[in-house]
Amino acid sequence: MNRAFNFSAGPAVLPVEVLQETAQAVLDYNNLGMSIMEMSHRSKEYDAVFKETQADALKLMNLNPEEYYVLFLGGGASLQFLMVPLNFLKNKADYVNTGAWSKKAIKEAKWVGTTNVVASSEETNFDHIPKNIPYNTDADYIHITTNNTIYGTQWREIPDFGNVPLVADMSSDIFSCPRDFSKFSLIYAGAQKNIGPSGVTMVVIKKSWLEKQKENVPTMLNYKIHVENESLYNTPPCLPVYVVGRTLKWIMKQGGLEAINQNNIKKANLLYDFFDANADFYIPRVKDKEDRSYMNICCNLPTKELEEKFVAEAKSKMQMTNLKGHRSIGGVRVSTYNACPIEWIEKLIGFMEVFMKENK
Ligand SMILES: *Cc1c(COP(=O)(O)O)cnc(C)c1O
Repeated sequence: MNRAFNFSAGPAVLPVEVLQETAQAVLDYNNLGMSIMEMSHRSKEYDAVFKETQADALKLMNLNPEEYYVLFLGGGASLQFLMVPLNFLKNKADYVNTGAWSKKAIKEAKWVGTTNVVASSEETNFDHIPKNIPYNTDADYIHITTNNTIYGTQWREIPDFGNVPLVADMSSDIFSCPRDFSKFSLIYAGAQKNIGPSGVTMVVIKKSWLEKQKENVPTMLNYKIHVENESLYNTPPCLPVYVVGRTLKWIMKQGGLEAINQNNIKKANLLYDFFDANADFYIPRVKDKEDRSYMNICCNLPTKELEEKFVAEAKSKMQMTNLKGHRSIGGVRVSTYNACPIEWIEKLIGFMEVFMKENK
């Protein structure tokens, strides 16, 4: 199997064994003589896949199924930007603006009601995570984005927000590291960064918070209805959920979130240490070490022309793809999600050394 070195920010690299299991299940699931895509979502066999994936997600997060429920919905993380305020913004909500995805979440909340941006790093083009956030103790909730996919910053520690329900977009670092997930009232994540293909969004919701949900929320946008129908109000994204299920099993086989985290830190630090040692050529974007993302690692080269040349040569000479930084900041972005092997990072750094010698 020829594998490109795919450093895409999303949809992104998945474990080879998950791809193989999926390829088999697409042809014939468990020798049932039908594809996983051809089965009723209410069949006994598919129901087992769905329920096990929900249970494994909670297990990995160390959450109690009595207290939390896992939904698999369509519409991407982007639909959650609207669903959260539609269900929970009664008087006012607090948002922390740490990048383009936070801004989109804020934009949707404004459709619904009073939305306070209580902290922002926009003035310095999102190069850090704001500290000492002056949140409103009477807000309906506070919303953060745990990993900023475009700008390469990450909340390593989650501050204490008292009794204000905490909502997080974890699209690009879900299941990459252990967290105290019980701090959150609602977590959502598009699957296509770290846990599966596009087409499914995982929502983890605290049951006690559901009681506070607003009345008269339209059916398909209503969390309570999805929970009451065990995430099967309508036909779920059956195949993507299957892939997420296999990926969660793979994570468990690696030793769970602690082991995955250690590996992710190792990969990221190989790159950050290399950038820091060669900071006149590979200029690290995030200077504050404690705010650096372990998932999306960004740097700039001395000129735009060199950045373009680097991305082009990485692809043509090394089969290393998707290294171009987001168009809003340029530069180089290396996405090192769970399934990215450490050998890829070592090879990439080898190429970076050669490129620097030739172009400095
Ligand atoms: C990619 C991404 C999104 C958008 O996800 P969709 O599933 O495309 O809607 C939202 N938030 C973050 C942090 C992301 O990385």
